[in-house]
Amino acid sequence: MITLKEALKLSKAELNNFKEELAKKIEANKDLNAYIDVNNVGEGVPIAIKDNIQVKDWSVTSGSKILQGYIAPYNATVIEKMLDAGLSPFGRVNMDEFAMGSTTESSFYGKTQNPHAGDRVPGGSSGGSAAAVGAGLAVAALGSDTGGSIRQPAAYCGIVGMKPTYGRVSRYGLGAYASSLDQIGPMTQNVEDAAILYDIISGSDAKDSTNAMRDDKVTPNLDADRKLTIAVLPKYVENASQDVKDAYAQAIEALKAAGHTIVEREMMDAKYDISAYYITATAEATTNLGRYDGIRYGNRVEGKNLEETYYLTRSEGFGDEVKRRILLGNFVLSSGYYEAYYVKAQKTRHLIKDEYAKIFEEVDLILSPVAPTVAPKFGELANPMDMYLSDIYTISVNLAGLPALSLPITKNSDGMPVGLQLIAKAYDEQTLFDGALSLEREVAYKA
Ligand code: GLN
Repeated sequence: MITLKEALKLSKAELNNFKEELAKKIEANKDLNAYIDVNNVGEGVPIAIKDNIQVKDWSVTSGSKILQGYIAPYNATVIEKMLDAGLSPFGRVNMDEFAMGSTTESSFYGKTQNPHAGDRVPGGSSGGSAAAVGAGLAVAALGSDTGGSIRQPAAYCGIVGMKPTYGRVSRYGLGAYASSLDQIGPMTQNVEDAAILYDIISGSDAKDSTNAMRDDKVTPNLDADRKLTIAVLPKYVENASQDVKDAYAQAIEALKAAGHTIVEREMMDAKYDISAYYITATAEATTNLGRYDGIRYGNRVEGKNLEETYYLTRSEGFGDEVKRRILLGNFVLSSGYYEAYYVKAQKTRHLIKDEYAKIFEEVDLILSPVAPTVAPKFGELANPMDMYLSDIYTISVNLAGLPALSLPITKNSDGMPVGLQLIAKAYDEQTLFDGALSLEREVAYKA
């Protein structure tokens, strides 16, 4: 598959040919179930769009039954920015329902396969985006990351996934899961493409009240030879599988060989991240999903009266995982429990933020696992608690609002990709891309 950088240089005629071939290839690989549908808009370079980002006149459903029949009335800001830069939304890609999940198994459209092994998950929630890029069915894709949903599927599918600093990319037109954590970001074949797509979609937007209103850009400079100080976390990595530990050791050697300085640091037990995240995210999700009542959006199941219409619509429209989280979110926000759970989670969030800030006083980047294992087989994370625990390495980054990039390092003995992530200070995307380019060059991963 040609890269985004190459695709941006194609003539109109070449691009049209390319898009025709691409549509055929997607059709021939239907079993993967990465795309929900192909729906070419505009004349630009085709980009796959996660089903929670609004493209005017497209169906947009967040992978849910409850939004069947809903048509987006306007473009998300990221789509407007893409169109301005010569990129076109090309198709909707699969995801966990309302971006809640780590496997894409909870989608209304059925599961998506991992392009490296048909019996394994592509990760989630942006599993369709990652599978499409990993299978050579997309030049690049947009995903969204609330607690790892860009970085983890990228790692499972052997591609690059980047979560920007909170507020860098407009959330206008993104189906909200947990508004204080959600960010849209690029999923690409390499680090340079991630920087190019990040530059296109990021920037100020008055339509998003949490936007950072910053327009500084990064320069993806393959010749950059900055020497950085990078923290590694030996204790933190102990809970990971041998595959991930081996990749971690390999990445440390690669970073040293590239001339970077490695220092050892510690982070508090990631079990606190899980609690703080699942309380915060479900509390916000409960509030955000209150709008799906059968009246204003999508699918409605008529009842005898308004209350029964709400009840039937929501009972039939939401899947089990979404219902579980609505229940949990209502519980932690209810009077009597609010102080004990929600307020405590916010205090923990501050501790996590402070802990990162302290490490970043002395280092440029942190090297961390993305997930404890390679892509699991279907059904392996069927127990919700196992699924939540598999998020230990990604969620603290969202709680702290930091930018991070997941990139493939190696493959294990089964041929499954192992990815790791670099994490940077808030708004220091430039250093993130510089370090990632350097690591990518040194490990020379073969897709
Ligand atoms: N797996 C996490 C969750 O289910 C993260 C999802 C995401 O980033 N959207 O909440």
